[in-house]
Amino acid sequence: MKLFTSKNDDISVYLEDREYIANTYVLRCFSVTMIIYFITFLLNILGIFVVEQSLMWRGFIPSLLIYLAVFLASKKISLSNEKTKYFILFNVIVVFTILGVYITYHVVLVSLLPFLYATLYSSKRVMRYVYVLTVISTVIIVYGGYAFGLCDANMALLTTGRLADHVVDGHFALSEVNSNPYFTLGLFYVVPRCLIYVAFMTICNSIFRIVSGSLEKAKLTAELEKAKIEAENANNAKSQFLARMSHEIRTPINAIIGMNEMIRRESSEKMIQEYAYDVKTSSELLLNIINEILDSSKIESGKMELVMDNYELGSLLNDLYNMTDFKAKEKKLKLIFDVEPTLPKACFGDDKRIRQVLLNLLSNAVKYTNEGSVMLKVASKVEGDTAWFYYTVKDTGIGIKQEDMGKIYDAFQRFEVERNKHVEGTGLGMNIARQLLQLMGSELQMQSEYGKGSEFSFVLEQKVVDASPLGDFRKRVLEENKGAARNDYIAPKAKVLVVDDSIINLKVFTNLLKRTKIQICEAESGRECLNILKQQNFDMVFIDHMMPEMDGIETLHEIRANNLGNGAPIIMLTANAILGDKEKYISEGFDDFLSKPIIPDELDKMIVQYLPEDKVIIGVNE
Ligand code: ADP
Repeated sequence: MKLFTSKNDDISVYLEDREYIANTYVLRCFSVTMIIYFITFLLNILGIFVVEQSLMWRGFIPSLLIYLAVFLASKKISLSNEKTKYFILFNVIVVFTILGVYITYHVVLVSLLPFLYATLYSSKRVMRYVYVLTVISTVIIVYGGYAFGLCDANMALLTTGRLADHVVDGHFALSEVNSNPYFTLGLFYVVPRCLIYVAFMTICNSIFRIVSGSLEKAKLTAELEKAKIEAENANNAKSQFLARMSHEIRTPINAIIGMNEMIRRESSEKMIQEYAYDVKTSSELLLNIINEILDSSKIESGKMELVMDNYELGSLLNDLYNMTDFKAKEKKLKLIFDVEPTLPKACFGDDKRIRQVLLNLLSNAVKYTNEGSVMLKVASKVEGDTAWFYYTVKDTGIGIKQEDMGKIYDAFQRFEVERNKHVEGTGLGMNIARQLLQLMGSELQMQSEYGKGSEFSFVLEQKVVDASPLGDFRKRVLEENKGAARNDYIAPKAKVLVVDDSIINLKVFTNLLKRTKIQICEAESGRECLNILKQQNFDMVFIDHMMPEMDGIETLHEIRANNLGNGAPIIMLTANAILGDKEKYISEGFDDFLSKPIIPDELDKMIVQYLPEDKVIIGVNE
């Protein structure tokens, strides 16, 4: 039976949403109905209206049974099915109307249950439907009851004198006291009753809406809370998984990069050198991808923290220049560093992250430019001990389409995939750069013209440590580059202990330092390291983090507790990048931290920094 054709499909979705409320509350509504009914019944029994008690029993018991049946049926039938619902509603009202004519003397009960359904669904249309049927059934019950002489005790309201005087054959006889009973019934009974029912329903409906609305809200809040906790747990699991995976992946990459470096150093064959160069670029790319994924997950889980320290602007720019220059040269691009000579020399901030952001912008500029130039412009404004740095990276590259600009910061988003299919990348760089800048209180700005080039800029506020001017940057780069080749040293008198459970890692480490002639002693476990330190002294100790039995941190604690090592600097060597934050290891008592895969230049830099000066002979290259 199709009583209503819903033009609006939303209603079924809406009804489905409300189904759980309907199912929960139908029981309560039913109880309320029964209580009202029972109270009325008791009042009648108490003799407010004096009629034959058998009349009430006749009404009460079957009504009770019908209510029960409808209630049970409602539990079985899917309330989200719109047709079923209207069908039930209609039938309930029809059955109650018919029964009402015969037995019921409280018409409100006729429509109470359907009305409750309507309330539960919060559907205005259903409410209207119930209102109309209530009025119709009231009219039918009252007039029908009167016409057939079946009801109704309430008609006593219209009488004068004792009710018992007007009861004929157990029924109340209105005609006894009224010359025009149909008119009187209509005016004094049907109309007010209908008005009262409709008003009563409207009030109940409002109360129900408020109650169910707030309950629904509470339930939603609880569900949201639960979903949030679940999401957080999932995210934590993901981060832990990434940390573990990163460690697992970095360890073999360490071997690849290290061994490959040996091939590059020891082979003089051109072909082999070329192959080794390709292995080097690919493994570095792989490492970069892993780092980006890790950074991204770290930022996402809110675990990314800035490590603030004093840094020299010249060294930062120098590194950037060195890291970008060879890539630009490969593509025959002009690399311009337009650096104001008045920039303050040293600042306080997280230079590693600033470098990462700028390197990302510069690498992108080089990657997405086929001819012309890539420029980094740095200007500053200093007030007291605060400086604002204006960084701009500009290229004459392929540019970004207007419609893609909004999506550039989305993780894993890459544009013109076909055109850029030979350009490597994860689509994470811009996302990370923007979030890192946000952590540093800055915002990345972008301008681009498709086909002409792009410009990325940001302003960074930093505390000035040394306000003296940086001077001519280009000169400085040349000078620094001259002195920067730190692998031109040997240290044959120096003794270094390296501890790692992986034999291949020990081999990589030893081979990387082979040309320095440093005396290297290897230990395969924390326990072995302690035994060796009990017998000998070293100038430097490198300890791996993840080792079975006794890990690097435990080994260090044992060294410190037993006063071993003779004060030699102890460096944490780890592939554990998520937990591997420098400050964490330093707080554990390490002197410094070197991440795996070992970048040969970084190892050399660290060795030169920590070995006693008198044991390092600079300027000798074997
Ligand atoms: P990817 O690792 O792919 O370079 P990024 O997040 O760094 O990822 O950049 C996202 C996308 O934005 C790139 O794939 C590229 O399409 C576009 N893009 C970024 N920088 C530039 C630029 N300087 N010129 C043109 N397109 C760029």
